[in-house]
Amino acid sequence: MKIAVIGAGIVGSAAAFELAKRAGNEVVLYDKERRVGTHQSGHNSGVVHAGLYYTPGSQKARFCRESIPLLKDFCLEHGIGYNEIGKLIVAQSEKDEAGLREIHSKALKNGVSSVQWLSVDELREVEPNVQGRAALLSPETSIVNYQKVAQVLAEEFVSAGGELNLGHDVVTAESTPNGAIVKTANSEREFDRVIVAAGLHTDRIASRSGASKYPIVVPFFGSYYLLNEEDSTLVSHAIYPVPDPNFPFLGVHITPREDGRFMLGPSAYLSLAREGYKSTNVSAQDIGSMLGATGFWKMGVRNLTQAVRLLPEAFGHSALLRGAQGLVPKITGEGISALERGVRAQAVNRDGTLEDDFVLEREGHVTFLRNGPSPGATSAFRLARELSDIATK
Ligand SMILES: Cc1cc2nc3c(=O)[nH]c(=O)nc-3n(C[C@H](O)[C@H](O)[C@H](O)COP(=O)(O)OP(=O)(O)OC[C@H]3O[C@@H](n4cnc5c(N)ncnc54)[C@H](O)[C@@H]3O)c2cc1C
Repeated sequence: MKIAVIGAGIVGSAAAFELAKRAGNEVVLYDKERRVGTHQSGHNSGVVHAGLYYTPGSQKARFCRESIPLLKDFCLEHGIGYNEIGKLIVAQSEKDEAGLREIHSKALKNGVSSVQWLSVDELREVEPNVQGRAALLSPETSIVNYQKVAQVLAEEFVSAGGELNLGHDVVTAESTPNGAIVKTANSEREFDRVIVAAGLHTDRIASRSGASKYPIVVPFFGSYYLLNEEDSTLVSHAIYPVPDPNFPFLGVHITPREDGRFMLGPSAYLSLAREGYKSTNVSAQDIGSMLGATGFWKMGVRNLTQAVRLLPEAFGHSALLRGAQGLVPKITGEGISALERGVRAQAVNRDGTLEDDFVLEREGHVTFLRNGPSPGATSAFRLARELSDIATK
């Protein structure tokens, strides 16, 4: 079968490699950038999620759990750092504690048997500088450089006989009675099947190609800050708050990077550009497409209170730092420096609801990953298998 994959992020690269390994396939992987993993896969927290939070039975819960061993083996086999640092979710109030019990119960239902409930004394023993009334310890949670994983996946794809076309901006991927046609500004090629895993631009490729307009992508940025070396020695696990269950983000956390320095972030706020990695990035086209979509306005109405509440976190580091100091009071914040933002491709439905689970949809001979949020990078290997199965059915 001749198959095209649009988008060489971690998911598209994994799908292309998966298909190239299956006998009888000729696979072409396209990306508009000159480097693999430039967007979401290169701007995230780098956390391998253990599967704690997700609704039991959901694709997020299943794919995350099933992907972890595949990701870990791939990293070990290819010499990519995979650091099982462990994570604590820390409850600070009675309400948090009730939320944490919910997460504990979900984690057990999701098969994360390694998770442990820590009392306040146990928490103090594990992390003396963390303040809270209880915590969940997830020893399996790890950190990895997802951009590196995507790059090695693309290299392996090429070694398996795949064709990698970087710098090819795909305009349409249109289903035809017998297959699908991929068009860029200066090329046109026929395939039997196409997979679109274009992250922040999947909805645009879909609507230009005659597929459904919804769900649309609404970009939510997350700011990250780097703590100084001394502040980075205060904890040894990734430290998370108990998240707001009404919002599909995990809350501002403290996570280590490969070099041992800790990052603070990400916040979650509406981005004025789909590829807005700096606070000054504003795109008239991206703002226009949001304002022109009914689903966006409906989302605004549904989430107005939340938007007002999160406003202080959107600008500058003060609110994020205060949040982190609530968890680790000894953090000084001296010399804290801004890193590039990440931008999430959040799928929003016509009625303004935020899609929570992964959304994989086939229309004709083209299969779209219409929502691939966190833990999408953790789940990439399993998402790749699912996309490949749906596309080649
Ligand atoms: C701030 C933030 C923190 C996160 N933290 C975590 C985490 O800790 N753990 C975790 O598991 N997940 C995390 N995620 C989610 C994770 O990063 C994503 O689920 C994952 O990277 C999605 O990969 P992808 O390949 O689908 O998308 P992307 O990496 O965005 O790749 C899409 C690709 O499509 C290409 N493309 C777009 N349009 C076109 C076009 N017209 N033609 C050709 N190519 C095109 C782009 O250039 C890009 O390379 C986080 C995400 C963000 C933003």
